[in-house]
Amino acid sequence: MPRGVYIHIPFCLSKCPYCDFASRPGKFSGELEQYLSALQTEISQRAEGRATTVYFGGGTPSLCSAAQIKTLMDALAHNLRLSPQAEITLEMNPATMALSSLAAFRQAGINRLSIGVQSTSQRSLRLLGRTHTALQARTTIQKARRANFTNVSCDLIHGLPTQSQEEFQADLNTLLSWEPDQISLYALQLEPWTPMAQQIQNKTMPQPDDDLTAKMYEWARAVFLRKGFIQHEISSFSRPGKTCRHNLLYWRGDPYLGLGAAAHSYEQGVRTWNCSDIAEYIQKVSKGGQAQAGREALEGRKRKAERLIIGLRLTSGVNKQKMRHNFGKDWKKEFVKAFQDMKQAGLLMENSEFIRLTPRGMLLADVVSRAII
Ligand code: SF4
Repeated sequence: MPRGVYIHIPFCLSKCPYCDFASRPGKFSGELEQYLSALQTEISQRAEGRATTVYFGGGTPSLCSAAQIKTLMDALAHNLRLSPQAEITLEMNPATMALSSLAAFRQAGINRLSIGVQSTSQRSLRLLGRTHTALQARTTIQKARRANFTNVSCDLIHGLPTQSQEEFQADLNTLLSWEPDQISLYALQLEPWTPMAQQIQNKTMPQPDDDLTAKMYEWARAVFLRKGFIQHEISSFSRPGKTCRHNLLYWRGDPYLGLGAAAHSYEQGVRTWNCSDIAEYIQKVSKGGQAQAGREALEGRKRKAERLIIGLRLTSGVNKQKMRHNFGKDWKKEFVKAFQDMKQAGLLMENSEFIRLTPRGMLLADVVSRAII
């Protein structure tokens, strides 16, 4: 069975006003060193068995030097068996481009880059509070190709306040002209405590238009499919063979080990997570203790519901045979009414093998999730 390792690097150059991830800015070089050393300790405590994917996420992992990433890779290789074809991804902020050599990251074992482009429009980048330019994003992709990265993914956000359909179309067309292997297309989601959500609440920034956001997504999806991209998941469009295997593992319910502050792990229906405070993480792990802050055993209806909600994000949907195998022949009983309602609403479809979202259901996946819960 595929098994992934996620390594969280919780530091950033600055905090983007829409961001709710476990990350923080600041002058941290001393703390980064201590954090990486704690990570090595946690790797030696918890990494074992075999891994098919490794994902350095954040935060901004590209703030680390290639030598620091290599040290973590060596620690992993010392404690577990990395499959020879392992996919090893590093998230990269174009603003850190000058700090690191992409060729050195490649030599450290990274073979896939996930670049936080977010937009190719200067106006949108300013609105998002990003500290890089569109040119830096483009140059990062070009440098990645020169450094022999054959799998380069880019994140793009749509549905920004004041963003028009025409602006978004230009944005996506520009990104496509840079020829990434995968584009993850996210609608802007704002948690109420983020500065951008507060600006909207104070009416100093307009609310994004949900209908327009849906229209942008539908337009983009049609463009991707016309251009030969494959959609594996609601927001993920990739060239054949270039889909992120690490993310596929999350969506399929396969096990993964999360290392670092705030990192989550999952195995056999049990989810655990580490403390999110960086200083607490360093202190606990450096003293040989565990950083685990919580544990939840998913059972019964809850476990089935979670499997359905995550699995339905895949365009292939949820395999009914697999559900029967994992949960017994009556697995569907508790969801019959929800499935009926969602099918009537045109959000869900079912055949003898799969249950999956319709194209409209992909736009309203939250509605389907709420019905299933
Ligand atoms: S770079 Fe990414 S993780 Fe860091 S603050 Fe911005 S959105 Fe959040």
